[in-house]
Amino acid sequence: MNPVIVAIDGEASTGKSTQAKKIAEELDFDYRDSGAYYRALTLYLIQNNINSNEDISQTILDKIDLKQTFKDNKLIIYLNNEDVSDKIRGYKVSINVSSYAKKSEIRNFVYTQLRKSAKSNSLVIDGRDIGTVVFPDADFKFFLFADSKVRAERRHKQINDKSVKLESIEKEIKTRDNTDSTRKIAPLKKADDAYEIDVTSLSIIQVFDKILQKINSK
Ligand code: C5P
Repeated sequence: MNPVIVAIDGEASTGKSTQAKKIAEELDFDYRDSGAYYRALTLYLIQNNINSNEDISQTILDKIDLKQTFKDNKLIIYLNNEDVSDKIRGYKVSINVSSYAKKSEIRNFVYTQLRKSAKSNSLVIDGRDIGTVVFPDADFKFFLFADSKVRAERRHKQINDKSVKLESIEKEIKTRDNTDSTRKIAPLKKADDAYEIDVTSLSIIQVFDKILQKINSK
């Protein structure tokens, strides 16, 4: 049987990865977090003082080895064999990742990783362009969106750090969505055939049920 692809795209902080992990566990599929690849590349490039307005040469890309593993509902990402799962969620990576993710050489690097994973495994993948560009023939496509204030509040609770202001989280989310949806290559947008879910007033379980129902009804 050909591997099955479930694409979960959408705006920042709509709970895509939470849903993708739950669906992957439910269906016994593997999971890939495409944003984590962009974040890990960003971390490497920042650490090596390579600016997002420079061309990223193949020589540089050849020095980067990324690997994701998914086990017990936990995704681990390795950058050159170092577990960077926590580091890639830091503020510096978050405010810079969209500038690096605009670049074709960075996107192609990630596409190669994702398509390689899909050769042998059924996958749930979350991102921005999975159903539009990376896997336009994905078996199931979802697009999550929500009010930016609600997304910021949820993120704020998760971070659990009083020094991080709610307003700065909302600003970061909005700026990232704006950069992601207005870029020339593979912008954030709903695929025509994606099932749209407004998660503003839905719980994690309610969103999960909707996704699962849709998959089971096909
Ligand atoms: O999903 P996450 O919020 O971790 O993604 C971080 C950033 O990576 C996004 O804001 C976007 O700039 C980039 N990204 C992308 N395409 C994807 C996934 C993420 O451009 N498929």
